[in-house]
Amino acid sequence: MTAAAKPETLGFQTEARQILHLMIHSIYSNKEIFLRELISNASDACDKLRFEALNAPELHENDSNPGIRISIDEDAGTITLADNGIGMSRDEVIDNLGTIARSGTAKFLENLSGDQKKDAQLIGQFGVGFYSSFIVADRVVVETRRAGLAPDQAVRWSCAGEAEYQLEAISKGERGTTITLHLKEEEKEFANAWRLRTIIKKYSDHIMIPISMVKPAPAKAEEGAEQEVEWEVVNKASALWTRPRSDISDEDYKAFYQHVSHDFRDPLVWSHNRVEGKYDYTSLLYIPSEPPFDLYQRDTPRGVKLYVQRTFIMDDAEQFLPLYLRFVKGVIDSSDLPLNVSRELLQNSPAVSSIRSALTKRVLDMLEKMATDNPEDYKTFWAAFGSVLKEGMAEDFANREKIAELLRFTSTAADKDQKISLADYVARIKPSQDKIHYLIADSYEAAINSPYLEIFRKHGIEVLLLTDRIDEWLMSHLTEFQGVQLRNIAKGELDLGELEDDKSDGKSDDPEQDKADTSELTEKIAGILGDKVEGVRISRRLTDSPACLVVGEHELGVQMRRILEAAGQPVPDSKPVLEINPDHPLLSKFSDGGDSAIEDLAWVVYRQALILSGDDLDNPGEFIRQLNRLLIA
Ligand code: ADP
Repeated sequence: MTAAAKPETLGFQTEARQILHLMIHSIYSNKEIFLRELISNASDACDKLRFEALNAPELHENDSNPGIRISIDEDAGTITLADNGIGMSRDEVIDNLGTIARSGTAKFLENLSGDQKKDAQLIGQFGVGFYSSFIVADRVVVETRRAGLAPDQAVRWSCAGEAEYQLEAISKGERGTTITLHLKEEEKEFANAWRLRTIIKKYSDHIMIPISMVKPAPAKAEEGAEQEVEWEVVNKASALWTRPRSDISDEDYKAFYQHVSHDFRDPLVWSHNRVEGKYDYTSLLYIPSEPPFDLYQRDTPRGVKLYVQRTFIMDDAEQFLPLYLRFVKGVIDSSDLPLNVSRELLQNSPAVSSIRSALTKRVLDMLEKMATDNPEDYKTFWAAFGSVLKEGMAEDFANREKIAELLRFTSTAADKDQKISLADYVARIKPSQDKIHYLIADSYEAAINSPYLEIFRKHGIEVLLLTDRIDEWLMSHLTEFQGVQLRNIAKGELDLGELEDDKSDGKSDDPEQDKADTSELTEKIAGILGDKVEGVRISRRLTDSPACLVVGEHELGVQMRRILEAAGQPVPDSKPVLEINPDHPLLSKFSDGGDSAIEDLAWVVYRQALILSGDDLDNPGEFIRQLNRLLIA
């Protein structure tokens, strides 16, 4: 494509326009982040150049020292940021600065809270960094030339409003990108060297590319004497992870986290290690405190930043951690990989798989330590990433036990907002108890009020209340913990063996006797419900409720069936057993009603049990009519 000779006016894509509107009109706090965003882009551009030049050294042209230069013109009220990174071609300018390709941006817009501070924090996280220039500028000019293109293949992009921008072919000697911000009248204070240095120190000290500014002229400069412009580097410009731990402050670690993660909240913990052995590498891994918006999108970029001997190789090297640890952010710097390593190569590298198992273990240890030393932090972690960690039970066979120890659940023995571990449960298990009991429900309220709990409550046996929508799936991968079996209390015949020596339930000791007394009733109800149920039997679970539905021990519960349905997979046909509590007054009504009342009664008992099982009511209209007939009678 040839560059247009005359300036051309192009329109922004809708989302880009929305973001611009937000930047121009709505960000009132934390305005200084624009500089961090632009520096981060410039640093990425230098990294990209270095990486592409590994295979095409000519891209360095005549200058292989990456750098960012920031200058100001106080009188004109402008800030100029120049990098000698990869630059952009005309098409890239249109793609990158005129549209927002990522689906994430729509999410960003949805996530806006109206709270300026929070929204400003979202900007970086959602990668709308460049547009943050418009927080402080009312006109932005970008001049750029992609490395390797001829000087006259450069482009000027300029924009002074929300709707459109101008593109123009220009000539530019140095490769890379120069961005000039024409500050808004009320933001002119940013055109101040001291102010900018402070902001750079605050946010960008750890950027590995040197950021230079003009050295302040000596105070006693002679009047009228020509001053040679001297640049000086204002950031540390060294790889943080290569410094000894003792030299790095918590603030440094946190600032670096923000740089690698684009998350501007503090991380919960980090772990910085240099490993020397079969493979030599340094890792710096962080656990964030809150989930990103796209944690559950499987194609979301994940993984760590990969460096080989301090040379940036790629973002999102996902081969170094398993999928269920995708929330971990950080850096890995290896000495055992070639500089031209590709994603394909990473996949088959023994070094990578060895580092991956070590990092996995490191993260799990970090979590375990947090759980022991800082339970409050662990609670935050669990709320943010617990559901993702659960995936590890299926994904990582080798670390199953470790992961199981990290799981947290609500329980009948704890408050609603308190979560316990399986080890807590096992520690309080009754001497006669041989199982860890759990119940799956849609919510804590549904669980704690569930009839399935009645007999356990009566005997003072703790039951875990599992309310995450993947918990039934999780439990299919967790059948035992510390040698104790786990059991879903809503499935199969209830084995009360462990309670046998406690006869306080007032029922006869002989289940056969119970059966004989009530077989007429169960048969009657079974006859009415027909093929809705597998059968009807007397319940050992219930003390207060009239009935509940129970599926076979190895059959799918409501949650699993929903998961399969949502995935468009066939759901095996299975029918529940209706368990009834003959001591309940509603059941005694069966002996004194007429035929039609008995039929309504049977259906109402069944459909109530259906609702309580967490399943959808099969025929709500019919249910209401049956119930109303009984109420009126
Ligand atoms: P992000 O940096 O999160 O991708 P931005 O809106 O900040 O989002 O930038 C959009 C894109 O514009 C970048 O991904 C990059 O391709 C390009 N870009 C921005 N600044 C520069 C620069 N200084 N040099 C080269 N490309 C840049």
